[in-house]
Amino acid sequence: NALADEYLRLAYHGLRAKDKTFNAKLNTDFDVSLGQVSLVPQDMGRVLLNLFTNAFYAVQQRQKQSPPDYQPTVSVQTSCESGQVRIVVSDNGTGIPNEVKEKVFQPFFTTKPTGQGTGLGLSLAYDIVTKGHNGSLAVESTEGQGTTFIIQLPA
Ligand code: ADP
Ligand code: MG
Repeated sequence: NALADEYLRLAYHGLRAKDKTFNAKLNTDFDVSLGQVSLVPQDMGRVLLNLFTNAFYAVQQRQKQSPPDYQPTVSVQTSCESGQVRIVVSDNGTGIPNEVKEKVFQPFFTTKPTGQGTGLGLSLAYDIVTKGHNGSLAVESTEGQGTTFIIQLPA
């Protein structure tokens, strides 16, 4: 919980430092009775930072093509269910088209302009979560509505 909270704010303030006019709503919903998870903080921090950075980018892009009443929102939620800790990161940004969705975990895959994305964030996140922590990382997204990434870790 503390790690997710810290990196959510870190990603937001990093972006705000570059673009002072950018405002997003941050939603947190932490399960206080979360089971213990054994994790490498630097690695899981990097995963979360990648997910949050992508989420903020997606809401920022959507905001550019939206009416002024659009409220960019990035949320993180934790919960524990049947021996699995879930960390859910969601945004109401651009969403991901179906033909792109299947490629997002591939190394060097990016839809961002040159210089803005390496395409390594999610492939690295996938390796850290699956190989490094024995967990799973999944994506759900609706184009034009938003995206949700779900991390599951053994409690
Ligand atoms: P990068 O951010 O450098 O492009 P990533 O591996 O982090 O590389 O992400 C790969 C691609 O997945 C992005 O270029 C983008 O097309 C898509 N993507 C990832 N996260 C999101 C998101 N939250 N909303 C929309 N698209 C996303
Ligand atoms: Mg990225």
